[in-house]
Amino acid sequence: MRVHGHEVRGVDVDGETRCAHYGTERDVVALRFGCCESYYPCFRCHAAVADHEAERWPAGRRGEPAALCGVCGAELTVDCYAAVDACPDCRTAFNPGCASHYDRYFEPAAAAED
Ligand SMILES: [Zn+2]
Ligand SMILES: [Zn+2]
Ligand SMILES: [Zn+2]
Repeated sequence: MRVHGHEVRGVDVDGETRCAHYGTERDVVALRFGCCESYYPCFRCHAAVADHEAERWPAGRRGEPAALCGVCGAELTVDCYAAVDACPDCRTAFNPGCASHYDRYFEPAAAAED
């Protein structure tokens, strides 16, 4: 599926990056994975269609775009995505539930490690 010019892989991905697993109004973000640098709507999509183990986005690259707003196509850095609850470009609210599993997708910032 191409969403605003970005390839988004997964299961039943729609034009705003919803998928078979997360399909509510607010599920409009795709995340990039460190292993293949590809966008997927969720980790279950990665597990379903990738031929390799998922690796989180590395802590050293939090300043690079790794989240895609499915509504407007804006790419957010990890630091930016972690700090907002809506897209800075189009103001679409993101699913607040996603915040509870950031650690599935992004390695914690070095400063937060013990
Ligand atoms: Zn991968
Ligand atoms: Zn999915
Ligand atoms: Zn947006």
